[in-house]
Amino acid sequence: MGPIDDLKTHLGTIHDVSSAAAVLRWDQETKMPPGGAKVRAEQLATLSRLAHQLFVSSDTERLLAAAEAVAGTLDPDSDEAALVRVTRRDFGIASKLPADFVAERARARSLSTEAWREARPRNDFAHFRPWLEQMVDYARRAAEYLGYADHPYDALLDLYEPNMKTRDVNVLFTRLREGTLPLVNAIVDRGQVVDSSFLSLEFDKEGQRAFGVMVAEGFGYDFSRGRLDESPHPFASGFNTGDVRITTRYVLRHLPSAIFGIFHESGHAMYEQGVARTFERTPLARGASLGIHESQSRMWENLVGRSRPFWEHFYPKLRERFPAQLGRIDADAFFTAVNVVELSPIRVEADELTYNLHIMLRFELEKQLLEGKLAARDLPEAWNAKSKEYLGLEPRNDADGVMQDIHWSSGSIGYFPTYTLGNVVSVQLFEAAQRAHPGLTDEFKAGKFSTLLSWLRQHVHRHGRKFFPRDLIQRATGADLTPEPYLRYLDTKFGTIYGIRAGAGAATE
Ligand code: ZN
Repeated sequence: MGPIDDLKTHLGTIHDVSSAAAVLRWDQETKMPPGGAKVRAEQLATLSRLAHQLFVSSDTERLLAAAEAVAGTLDPDSDEAALVRVTRRDFGIASKLPADFVAERARARSLSTEAWREARPRNDFAHFRPWLEQMVDYARRAAEYLGYADHPYDALLDLYEPNMKTRDVNVLFTRLREGTLPLVNAIVDRGQVVDSSFLSLEFDKEGQRAFGVMVAEGFGYDFSRGRLDESPHPFASGFNTGDVRITTRYVLRHLPSAIFGIFHESGHAMYEQGVARTFERTPLARGASLGIHESQSRMWENLVGRSRPFWEHFYPKLRERFPAQLGRIDADAFFTAVNVVELSPIRVEADELTYNLHIMLRFELEKQLLEGKLAARDLPEAWNAKSKEYLGLEPRNDADGVMQDIHWSSGSIGYFPTYTLGNVVSVQLFEAAQRAHPGLTDEFKAGKFSTLLSWLRQHVHRHGRKFFPRDLIQRATGADLTPEPYLRYLDTKFGTIYGIRAGAGAATE
């Protein structure tokens, strides 16, 4: 095992540099005074450059070749063979992008995000436009450097969702749209008004935090290997399996923001806390992909945290904390209020049922941008037209339309589909866990989640990046990626809440 251990030692050094950068980034978002920003940017650039140089070096090439000679004789399912395979893949990608291109793009990205931060509150697309044009140009060039067989989008999607192809996403999204639109339309046509106004009363921060922590601990998020802080944009960040942190944002007059945010981020964090300790300081010690990562956060946020059995246990505890706000609201009314379906222009405020329409809209536009069929300067009109087509409404302005997300400002094109993949995969995994443990959701009524967490640990978490996402799904559920469980789930849940027997999504399998 000599050459593989040598490779591991080398990768461990690179991992140390990268995770030091991640700690600095976490600090910048949570604790750092604004005065530190300028020099912090230099520190982060230095560490990123060092990690990149170490990784694309001739040392890596030599150690990797030696390790491959050994790995070829091992079981392909062994951890060692997987480590070598994943490292070769990462090395191939990192080496295709010229160092000058990477550095130039990194600088442009931070300036572009800055321009977006200025432009959005002023609803000033003209200010952001030249940067957006550059970001699209960088994305197209990156796709050319990385290479693709079918569509330039494949090259970018592969960075976030290894081995996933644009045509697979096309097929999946078409089925999802056909499967959900009849239910969305039936709900909208009914025009039933749900009272959720009590969620906008004032809820003190300490109470929100205490409730969120109690639930996250109940889920199994280990606070001796994690912590909860505040940041403007909530995120989870893992430095190693013994230190995976989350953040949230408290909105005093909108209770769902922080509490569902904490459920969501603790789902991400429990994934990384559950990766095999033997993968520590290697490229395997992370999630399999953004889509699989999101399947974990969505599962705890929605399938658990927005379910009736969950609130049967937790609603009395929430009401005890906030008697003035919730005293006259019963568990049913609360459950319905946190599951309202509504067509709205903003993705991050969308409910479970309409959320994916927002992603489809972005996916269509991104493909056109990469194909050169749509110019960045024409995005506002294209956005509004697609919004009308997919959501039946146009945003009030560009701030609530084309400029609402941060992703394009940093050139993250190809990223959005992973959100919908996460939704789809969350239910496919959840159904598999339920098949293995038919009483699973009854345990939620008693505030017990250890059976679900153990199943996830066993079938998903411990493997880290060892398997490609589709392979992991196949191994965990016995089937290839499929939207049918997800469509059934939406139909049952929202059909019941709104008293509609749509049957729209249910397909014969
Ligand atoms: Zn997430």
